[in-house]
Amino acid sequence: MEGEVRTLCVFSDYHGPTWSQIRVRNAMVTHRSIMRMHDSTLPKQMAIKQGENTTLFKNIMKKLGGGKLTPAERLYKLNLCKTPNSGLAHAKSQWKLRIQKFQRKEYNTWIHDLHLNLCKDVNKRQSQSIQKHVLNLGIGTAYLMSLNMGSHLTITHVNSKLQASLKLAIRKLKAGMINHLLIMKHMYDGKWHKTDFEAKLDAIMCPCSTGIQDVHHIIIDCECTSHLLNNWLLQSEEAMVRLISNKKLPESHLHDFMQLSDIQKISFMIHRPYASKGSETLAHEYGLTAQSYLKALTDFVKTLNTSDSISDPTSAPMHAH
Ligand SMILES: [Zn+2]
Repeated sequence: MEGEVRTLCVFSDYHGPTWSQIRVRNAMVTHRSIMRMHDSTLPKQMAIKQGENTTLFKNIMKKLGGGKLTPAERLYKLNLCKTPNSGLAHAKSQWKLRIQKFQRKEYNTWIHDLHLNLCKDVNKRQSQSIQKHVLNLGIGTAYLMSLNMGSHLTITHVNSKLQASLKLAIRKLKAGMINHLLIMKHMYDGKWHKTDFEAKLDAIMCPCSTGIQDVHHIIIDCECTSHLLNNWLLQSEEAMVRLISNKKLPESHLHDFMQLSDIQKISFMIHRPYASKGSETLAHEYGLTAQSYLKALTDFVKTLNTSDSISDPTSAPMHAH
């Protein structure tokens, strides 16, 4: 699950062939070159003799993201390798284009399925009992990523002109990589399943005592951190007002934004398509506010989780407004 979140965050931001696809493509090219050699040549004789028992063949039959190829997919790949051509440049490039097209389709299906599975998982986990939440570390890190309903070509994409440090901040939020978060501390703890329930509950219960300290809780539900979220949204609105007064953004943009719920606002900013109108200036502002939110949140969570006085509600700074 956590690995899938990172995979989705990484690949949706790059949107190119994966290493396994490049390996498969190379294997297809090599296999085809050998099969087009003269029958008397050693590579072809070996290839015919060994049949499907070669590493090349096994690489051709690899599936993106693991799993087995369906018979139809298998046949399609084999046909792609077998297609005869005249050796002319045009035929060669046509052949390569067909493989590229096939792999692009395969890639899009893979990203789509990964995302669909994340959404299903988050939905399932959101409705689980506290016992399950304790065992599974809340709803995990996929929460913000699961809110993306549109294109994966967002302002954090490699082709977006947003500066790298700002992309990084938004990517971290999307992937739920918030340092010092209690569930993150135990995510790679091999003994977690053997720890007893009370100890687990103690380890990941947020000092506010209203929930497991996961991504969803710390951003949306936690009363200790709500001022940080309000700050983030306010800063973004102020930035929009500035852009509107400089005639760099239509007024309707802010108007539409104000109609959204807090969580919709977050999703609107971090999953904003990079190719939208007036995108560069606005993306920059969204990046800046997301970066300062992430820093403020990380610092705050660190203090929250290490401070002893927090458990006493009368002296807790979270209740001072
Ligand atoms: Zn809390």
